[in-house]
Amino acid sequence: MESLADFIAGMPKAELHLHIEGTLEPELMIALGRRNGISLPYPDAATARKAYNFSDLQSFLDIYYRATAVLITQEDFYDLTIAYLKKAASQNVRHAEIFFDPQSHTARGIPFETVISGIERALLEANSSLNISTKLIMCILRHLSEKEGFEIFDKAFAWKHWIAGIGLDSSERGNPAEKFMNLFELAHQEGFLTVAHAGEEGSADSVRQTLDILHVTRIDHGVHCMEDDALVAELAEKQIPLTVCPLSNVRLKVFESMKQHNLKAMLQKGLCVTVNSDDPAYFGGYVNENYIEAAKALQLDEKDIIQLAKNSFTASSLSSIHKQLYLTEIDRYIHQT
Ligand SMILES: [Zn+2]
Repeated sequence: MESLADFIAGMPKAELHLHIEGTLEPELMIALGRRNGISLPYPDAATARKAYNFSDLQSFLDIYYRATAVLITQEDFYDLTIAYLKKAASQNVRHAEIFFDPQSHTARGIPFETVISGIERALLEANSSLNISTKLIMCILRHLSEKEGFEIFDKAFAWKHWIAGIGLDSSERGNPAEKFMNLFELAHQEGFLTVAHAGEEGSADSVRQTLDILHVTRIDHGVHCMEDDALVAELAEKQIPLTVCPLSNVRLKVFESMKQHNLKAMLQKGLCVTVNSDDPAYFGGYVNENYIEAAKALQLDEKDIIQLAKNSFTASSLSSIHKQLYLTEIDRYIHQT
């Protein structure tokens, strides 16, 4: 297995499903808490890590939103983002499309400008010094109202040139796609890339509705699409990308164990599936660990890994010429090894 792990580690890849707030490692959380004078329920990073014991999406979100309270200044958002980008670059992530959740910060009184300018500074720095390309996707929290979504959309408008796409995340259960129909219509009119979480804790119907009502380019997670043969056939035919996050799915009990994960079955159906880390500080690994753990449990071979890596670029929102450059990088890598 070690040689496949090495093969994975060296593979050029894109990450398309990554919440920047979910990269807040306990060590940084403790350091920022101290810097900003915010008391946390954990005395040290090791205790915090032990507390990351979730039973489902909601129990994870409760801890997650509490941890984001340490993010106050532009410098904090810069530190958070550059730490992720350094880690990603060390794993041969060549392109990252990064989610951020401005509503979880503006609700605490942090100005939108503070959040986005800290993140953007790190992205610009990484583009030049870490040789990694990036896009920023602003996610709307689906447990809040569409009206609140529109409010953040209005705030974001002044920074439209920094935002490539609009996404939808947080609790899927009880918050159907149709709740955000008007907001996504506006996102389309304004020329944004659109993506949405669906089919993680929700069913195949949730994936169907997200496609039919929100007309998104990509589905984040989407693993429950496999319950509906007609939907699978359509997703495969149209090559609508599904950004799967194996370690997240196991930690949040979407699957009992990695061996039960349907990633390989999705590949075998010809779906444009990609591997991503979602909230790596909480789920036990960054993108390479996701590939490696899935490969071990599901007996993925080099051919599968190549397919997943190629999918990660074809599913990205890069221009076709940029996609081709990265796909050529993969071909060169395969021939070297
Ligand atoms: Zn996610």
